[in-house]
Amino acid sequence: MADATGGEFYEENFEPRAYLDDYFNLGKDGAGNEYLKLTLPHFCKAFGPGGLSGDTLIDIGSGPTIYQLLSSCEAYKEITPTDYSKRNRQELEKWLKKESGAFDWTPVVKFVCDLEGNRTSVTEKEEKLRRVVKQVLPCDILKTNPLEPLLVPQFDCVLSSLCLEGACKTHDEVCSAVKNMSNLSKPGGHLVLCGDISCSHYQVGDVMFSALVMNEEILRKAVSEAGYTIDSLELTSRDDPKVMQETTDFTGIYFMVAHKT
Ligand code: SAH
Repeated sequence: MADATGGEFYEENFEPRAYLDDYFNLGKDGAGNEYLKLTLPHFCKAFGPGGLSGDTLIDIGSGPTIYQLLSSCEAYKEITPTDYSKRNRQELEKWLKKESGAFDWTPVVKFVCDLEGNRTSVTEKEEKLRRVVKQVLPCDILKTNPLEPLLVPQFDCVLSSLCLEGACKTHDEVCSAVKNMSNLSKPGGHLVLCGDISCSHYQVGDVMFSALVMNEEILRKAVSEAGYTIDSLELTSRDDPKVMQETTDFTGIYFMVAHKT
């Protein structure tokens, strides 16, 4: 397949609304929402009672999505989503500002509230997230300072879901990207990294994106070379990797928590 990763390819071809409709619709059958359903319990556990917490969290390559922030918004005072693509940042802003035509995240928020034992209502959680997000920033994870030209204080937690697979063309680039993430982290700060295992492609609307195939070995290498110690690394397999294989061929997900030493 033609090479279709990297920020520029996303900027031009990634249709935020198609991505949301294809993969974040909880009513849909198939592999569409499988990543979402496999990942949310991990976020819930990582940021739940007794889990990670602090003042500031940055999400790298947020895309147009908020699912990855629904548990951490209860644990951090300020959250900064980021993305390379302007259209993704705009789609996110649309939801944050409650503009008309924004994606309806309510079913996903309800799913998370249920997972968390309904400590908060759907409306409370949505309002909480809108309150803790102060700004959405442009970002290029392949730059030493991914927020260039901005210089901002380091964060207590760096989170990234499904970004390395789309932003990086080689495993060496993954190592650089994780080092760049670590530049944004306070000493002792946490890294929460998740994504899919063995995924070589996924379709968004009519466009096929290639993905960098990830495995446990490269994850461990990239994270330790960037000065992190792994606290936990969980791999969860899909029930049936053959379902919807022509749309996306991931076999499972990884969810890692590490801290900067
Ligand atoms: N985090 C979201 C989106 C994943 S899709 C989710 O979990 O669903 C991959 C995202 O990485 C896209 O939004 C794309 O614009 C972004 N991206 C691609 N190259 C990037 C780069 N160099 N720096 C930062 N983000 C990048």
